Amino acid sequence: MTTNNIRQIYVDHSAGKPVDSRVVAVMLPYFKVLYGNPSSFHRFGQEAKQALDNSREDISKLINAEKPETIIFTSGATESNNLAIKGMAIRNRQKGTKIVTSAIEHMSVVNSCKSLVRQGFQTTFSPVDSYGLLDLVKLEENIDEQTKLVSVVYANGEIGTIQPINEISEIVHKKGAYLHVDATAACGQIPVDVNKDGIDLMTISCNDMYGPKGVGALYLKDSLRIDPLLHGGGQERGLRSGTENVSSIIGFGKAAEITRLEMRSESKRLVKIRDSLIQGLIDPISYTFLNGHPKKRLPDNVSVRFNFIEGESILLSLALSGVFASSGSACAAKTLQPSHVLLAMGLKHEEAHGSLMITLGRQNTQKDADYIKELIPGIIDRLRNMSPLTPKELKK
Ligand code: PMP
Repeated sequence: MTTNNIRQIYVDHSAGKPVDSRVVAVMLPYFKVLYGNPSSFHRFGQEAKQALDNSREDISKLINAEKPETIIFTSGATESNNLAIKGMAIRNRQKGTKIVTSAIEHMSVVNSCKSLVRQGFQTTFSPVDSYGLLDLVKLEENIDEQTKLVSVVYANGEIGTIQPINEISEIVHKKGAYLHVDATAACGQIPVDVNKDGIDLMTISCNDMYGPKGVGALYLKDSLRIDPLLHGGGQERGLRSGTENVSSIIGFGKAAEITRLEMRSESKRLVKIRDSLIQGLIDPISYTFLNGHPKKRLPDNVSVRFNFIEGESILLSLALSGVFASSGSACAAKTLQPSHVLLAMGLKHEEAHGSLMITLGRQNTQKDADYIKELIPGIIDRLRNMSPLTPKELKK
């Protein structure tokens, strides 16, 4: 991408993705022509309802859900996580009041659990190892007979580590609990199959599949019941009242269809670029380390840390050269606190602070990676020369 002849490389795709033009094309008629409310009985309404149901089908196909009705549309991953966790916990309150989750969840999971603690529930944050993989022995120990819900992220978008969901599902079900999986970052990048993976509830994000922002879904296994968060006209089987965001949901369906057809080849392409970037940063620059698992890793994710310097100063230097990346999760960026995800993996505060997160997308090419590989060593040298934390022998 170029603006005013300055090369611009956007590598912050886990925070936001462009909407695919094929998705925009199918959305447009729903603004000015097919504007009916899906709850209306007349033709305009029924056309909108049919289109919603087609999207439900496209999304259910992508995740191999048993039927389209298992898909509940929401305003995004945050709402889906809230609905899954609070809806499930409150529905099953009489059977047990403990929720087990992991130490590397998105804040929408962490804060949903914390809000339940204020209502008398208990939450345990199960630990991960230095790669960000859940410790399955500890997970099993943490699930007791009071636990009715376990919530685990499929793949953390910040460090890229992919969890062994199938093994987690076996443990959770053996202990008589239900499994909610936050697949926001995973669904669209790696094959996700709710049946094979043994998932009971699953959060799906639309923008992560190059659809519009502000729309998402919760997969809810056919036999399961949860309490709604929003009460009103009873849309979405009574689980999410409010007139549906029709145009965005139509875009969501198209985004899911494109993902189903193109994900394998696109992910293969990204893995090559990802690995060349990781190597190109870690090999030539001393005291530089990969965050997350080297192999069990999302195709788009390059997360590295450079000792002795601050992630924010790397970002600033990169932005001045037209490269737009991130130092961690977009949701935590405002706080300037070290990420709870990196701390949970055992990093010290000062190590976590030096992290750079590059998340690749459909428009990135190997050329972009080569440009970034060329640019970063000079930036790191300059920042380390200025940093009081850099050992003397490393200064140039
Ligand atoms: N879960 C995970 C794993 C995420 O990475 C994010 C942020 N993209 C969310 C939930 C929340 O997504 P949103 O802000 O779109 O609701």
